[in-house]
Amino acid sequence: MIDLHTHSTASDGSYTPAELISRASEAGITQLALTDHDTVSGLAEARSASIEQGISLIPGIELSARWGTQTLHIVGLGIDPSGDSLRKAITQTQQTRIDRGRTIGKKLEQTGVHNAYLHTCQLAGSELIGRAHFARYLVSLGLAKDFNQVFKRYMVRGKPGYAPAHWMEMDQAVAQIHGSGGIAVLAHPMRYNLGGSKRRKVVEAFAMAGGEAIEVVAGRTNAAEIEIVARLAFEFNLLASVGSDFHGPDKPWVQLGKLPRLPSNCQPVWQQHSFN
Ligand code: AMP
Ligand code: MN
Ligand code: MN
Ligand code: MN
Repeated sequence: MIDLHTHSTASDGSYTPAELISRASEAGITQLALTDHDTVSGLAEARSASIEQGISLIPGIELSARWGTQTLHIVGLGIDPSGDSLRKAITQTQQTRIDRGRTIGKKLEQTGVHNAYLHTCQLAGSELIGRAHFARYLVSLGLAKDFNQVFKRYMVRGKPGYAPAHWMEMDQAVAQIHGSGGIAVLAHPMRYNLGGSKRRKVVEAFAMAGGEAIEVVAGRTNAAEIEIVARLAFEFNLLASVGSDFHGPDKPWVQLGKLPRLPSNCQPVWQQHSFN
């Protein structure tokens, strides 16, 4: 079993990198990519644990990017975490996260939630926080019962805890991944709340930017969605990736090692690239 999209406590996942590797090993995963949001800080720990557990670890990242006004997530697989170009991109994106986090904190203040930024940073153990960290804090205050509810009430566009972020352009994200020796994968294409024709345009632009692969099987995708993305992969000559987007046992996503198979007409990205 292969899983090319997962998170750890280095971003908004619940397991430390070493715990994630252990759980992945128990779930029968043989090849795992750790792809934390806008950081490579979990990769060293994951690397040691993967050697102990006998799992093949692909060093990865999930970069936040934009195409026009649309936020997109671009996964980089097989990156060199110490590469210069990637380090620059990450520094810039992390600053965007910090700025947005402060704005979200101010907005929440106006709704009567005091010092949300500070408390959320403490909870996350870092300043590099995202909406999922704020969500966890708001749930801990009893302001919503779970993640789904807290996102709906607070963390999405139009709601009191939402602030837009000025992420890097998609082309730039793809170029930075390439600059660090990685392969660019368009993450979870069915999760962007786009109609069919806009989605097709996004995929086309991604392919034009030099992106190599697309997540045909992503967490929470059904057979019909897999079919739609498999067609897009074929149309734009993109390799196919498989990633759960696992964040932890307490998050409303799929579990590790439980993913549908790739349709047989797809070309698996891991067969074309060795990532070593
Ligand atoms: P950010 O990159 O900080 O804007 O946050 C995006 C992250 O929030 C995603 O990677 C998920 O971990 C989480 N997320 C987004 N939408 C939802 C949702 N509807 N329910 C729960 N978590 C979500
Ligand atoms: Mn996340
Ligand atoms: Mn994502
Ligand atoms: Mn993800």
